[in-house]
Amino acid sequence: VSFTGGGVLNRLINPFPLPAFNVIDSVTLSMLPRETLGLVGESGSGKTTLARTILGLVRAAAGRIAFEGRDIRTQADFRAMRRRSAMMFQDPVASLSPRLRIGMLLTEPQVIQGVLIPDRRAAARALLALVGLPASFVDRFPHELSGGQARRVGVARALAMKPHLLLADEPTAGLDVSVQGDVLNLIGELKRELGFAAMIVTHNLAMIRHVSDRLAIMYLGRLVETGPTQDVFSSPMHPYTATLIQSEPIPDPRRRSQNPAVSGEIPSVFRRPSGCEFHTRCPIAQERCRAEPPAYRQISAGRMVRCHFPLETGGQEPRNQPKGK
Ligand code: SF4
Repeated sequence: VSFTGGGVLNRLINPFPLPAFNVIDSVTLSMLPRETLGLVGESGSGKTTLARTILGLVRAAAGRIAFEGRDIRTQADFRAMRRRSAMMFQDPVASLSPRLRIGMLLTEPQVIQGVLIPDRRAAARALLALVGLPASFVDRFPHELSGGQARRVGVARALAMKPHLLLADEPTAGLDVSVQGDVLNLIGELKRELGFAAMIVTHNLAMIRHVSDRLAIMYLGRLVETGPTQDVFSSPMHPYTATLIQSEPIPDPRRRSQNPAVSGEIPSVFRRPSGCEFHTRCPIAQERCRAEPPAYRQISAGRMVRCHFPLETGGQEPRNQPKGK
């Protein structure tokens, strides 16, 4: 899947009569088959909105979505894409109807898509077995599940249509650390077995480090860095990425002494800072950063960064790089 665009207005995702502003803007993001991409950022960075936009649950005012080599333009295209993709929502219990039993909820996506199921209970039991839950859960209601069980039901429901792409929004939020590992291992095992690509939306760097192939870092609705996960962790190029990594509780005293933790609050999209939007919190901001927005440009193979003075260059402007918008 690939998405290029922006202009996702708050009015499209928020019913309150606020002034229009772009929640995500100028984003270009692609995923490969079977890849696991971590979409990372603080609350308010626009990562969930971007994931929803990619699946067509939120419409961008401008841009292009392509899925499995085909442009998605019409309602029929979106419906076809949704049949081959799925989203795991952040709060699995809230996303399930409280009046329906788990058996009905698990097979609901197929029914909505018009798939004929001869035996819904048998189909639900097979999905429960896929995620390691007992067959007897078909008769339970969502409120009778623990957090970890609800998350497993969320995985099973998302996989009911055998998607080629799974978008998981904060799949471990609110879970105990031990249960977080279970859920992530489950997604990893099913991914290997069924061969789908996964985009995991999270602010949990410690978790995403171990499960993703590639990272995309978002700030104020724009991507500021993308690259292979291990490369980004070992040598972050954007100061925001570096401070996010630094602020994680990683037992590495050398890193802690080199970089300060990210400071201050993420600005409001109502009042985007001038120039580089990270300059109000950036520990190495210079005069140019306040006046001129940096381009999002390729620095090395597979590494993109939106910064005038990326860290791998020692804070100097890289030479011989084409300037973008
Ligand atoms: Fe910091 Fe300037 Fe780079 Fe923005 S462009 S991240 S303010 S160094």
